[in-house]
Amino acid sequence: MRPISVFDFVGKPLLTGIFVALLLLQWRFPLRRQHFRLLRRLVRNFVLALPSNAILRWAMLPIPLMLAAWAETQSIGLLHWIPLPDWAGIVASVLLMDYAYWWWHWANHMIPLFWRFHNVHHTDLDMDVSTAIRFHFGEMFFSVGFLCLAVVLFGISPMMLIIFFLCFEAATLFHHSNWRLPIKLERLLNYVFVTPRMHGIHHSIVQRETNSNWGTMFCWWDKLHGTLRRDIPQDELTIGVAAYRDENELTIGRLLALPFGKQRQWKLPNGEKPDRPPKSARNLAE
Ligand SMILES: [Zn+2]
Repeated sequence: MRPISVFDFVGKPLLTGIFVALLLLQWRFPLRRQHFRLLRRLVRNFVLALPSNAILRWAMLPIPLMLAAWAETQSIGLLHWIPLPDWAGIVASVLLMDYAYWWWHWANHMIPLFWRFHNVHHTDLDMDVSTAIRFHFGEMFFSVGFLCLAVVLFGISPMMLIIFFLCFEAATLFHHSNWRLPIKLERLLNYVFVTPRMHGIHHSIVQRETNSNWGTMFCWWDKLHGTLRRDIPQDELTIGVAAYRDENELTIGRLLALPFGKQRQWKLPNGEKPDRPPKSARNLAE
């Protein structure tokens, strides 16, 4: 089976199933109280996802896959140079790619051009599993370049790229969801994985909190870089971007145009910068 067929015929139905399951779980066991109209947010997030999905299917996957196949035949890239048993190659591919994505997410916040596009994802005023598909198509377009670079540098095989991508997308759906896991279970999972409470802090309107928890699958990279924050209880979080708080302003047309206009500073409409003193939580706050 060709890697892209694995994505179309196995991956897509699997991801759709996970999406629906998380929709039901977050409806049955909600984590944060939602403040804005659900249907309106769902429609906006779904419509924004349409052009992004088209870029994903027709550029973001096929172009790096072609490059991965070429690098494999030419034996280019780290994992083609180091002889490893199959299982170690799989583990190394997943770890290297997830760590590379940590840097890519960091760059999406720190490089002003990239932030213009990633900002659209963060302007969601409540966060749930549908936020995981709310990406401006421009961000997906830039990701093509990032993925090509990572795949050739690390020597990721085409099939491994698809397997990683499916795990990565499943992790993205999971940590954006508004599913209240029992706190003990989530703390246990959070020794390894990025969890909904941990990623919730990344979507806070407090800039210091947004500039933390950049991981997608594993929480270790944030530990490594000292950017892991677990100190904010979920009911103290306000989700979104400080300068974009009016839901009537966040229409599909305006969100698509947002990266191309003047960017607002990270301040509330009253001019204040949202802040709160950091706490010292060794464990994930409830
Ligand atoms: Zn982000």
